[in-house]
Amino acid sequence: MRDVVIIGGGLSGLAAAHELQGRGIPYRLIEVKKRLGGSIISERRDGFVLDGGPFAFPRRADWSFLEALGLAGALIPVHDSHRRDLVAFADGAQMLIDALAKPLTGTILHRMAVSSLGQLDGQFTLCLENGLVLDAAAVIVAAPARFAERMFRTVQPEFSLKLADYGYDFIARLSLGFRDADLPHPPLFPWDMAVAFYEWTEAPQRVPPGHRLLHVGLRVPPPLVEPDALTAIVRQQIKAHGDPVIRRLDIWPEADPLPPHRATFRAEMDALLAMLPPGVVMAGSDYHGLGLAERISGGRAAAAKIAAYLDSRP
Ligand SMILES: Cc1cc2nc3c(=O)[nH]c(=O)nc-3n(C[C@H](O)[C@H](O)[C@H](O)COP(=O)(O)OP(=O)(O)OC[C@H]3O[C@@H](n4cnc5c(N)ncnc54)[C@H](O)[C@@H]3O)c2cc1C
Repeated sequence: MRDVVIIGGGLSGLAAAHELQGRGIPYRLIEVKKRLGGSIISERRDGFVLDGGPFAFPRRADWSFLEALGLAGALIPVHDSHRRDLVAFADGAQMLIDALAKPLTGTILHRMAVSSLGQLDGQFTLCLENGLVLDAAAVIVAAPARFAERMFRTVQPEFSLKLADYGYDFIARLSLGFRDADLPHPPLFPWDMAVAFYEWTEAPQRVPPGHRLLHVGLRVPPPLVEPDALTAIVRQQIKAHGDPVIRRLDIWPEADPLPPHRATFRAEMDALLAMLPPGVVMAGSDYHGLGLAERISGGRAAAAKIAAYLDSRP
């Protein structure tokens, strides 16, 4: 049997690979970057654990899958500006990526980008940017709409055109570690500035004793997206008494997908997904709504659909 190709090695693609492997279905995963994880990136530095992408998640999400990944007890509480009941990963969200990737035995091709998809005689053909051409029995596209758009230009132009219109919001994510005495309790920002949200934690798994970690999402004009300028703005607005002892700034020009916030999103996206040829399934927040736990269930659901498709073929 030709294998299933998964495009994208973020959370959705890895969850799909995990599920295919569990079902005994051969797969190859193609990831354009050197590392797996997509928008998830965590770093341990000077006793702090810093997340450059996804950081805090609703506690009420379905986290039951963590136990099977050996991550029971990995979630710690986080305080949030909107008083939501949030949790974060003790060792950074990257621990979820590592736990998913570790048992995978299928081929993972790094630093290779899929540029187009074709279909011939019930098989799929994938053209890569480096000129390589791969055959596949079925395809899971676990790459965001802004990248997936060009893959479909030939095989489903109408779908491609709609994905090309997909909009995103910019966000800068600033992680600042303060000495406890330097950060007001609780930290409060005036609401006239460009702070989309902020979260903080003093959990000993992520913060050294006597310190707290502040994680701020900012929507500011690009000229201000410079580490010193942003730190100064945050420091002044929050009335911190001293400089942060650690800092990490991540700039995401196309971070937040806008369409999932529209009331009509689900119906519109379902109509779009119905245009896809059988054997091609999309996974990821651009198609199925936001949330980290949902990315795992979405990746698994994509793999289950592909398994059903393969079973249904003569
Ligand atoms: C900055 C940021 C912060 C977020 N914060 C939160 C949060 O706090 N809480 C929450 O619940 N959700 C958050 N989300 C939303 C969501 O949880 C994450 O987006 C989630 O990690 C998405 O995973 P994914 O695998 O679907 O997509 P991605 O992580 O985007 O992974 C897609 C992968 O596809 C690869 N790729 C793209 N094009 C190609 C190609 N042509 N060929 C091969 N590979 C390709 C990319 O390199 C990438 O590795 C955040 C998202 C972002 C971007």
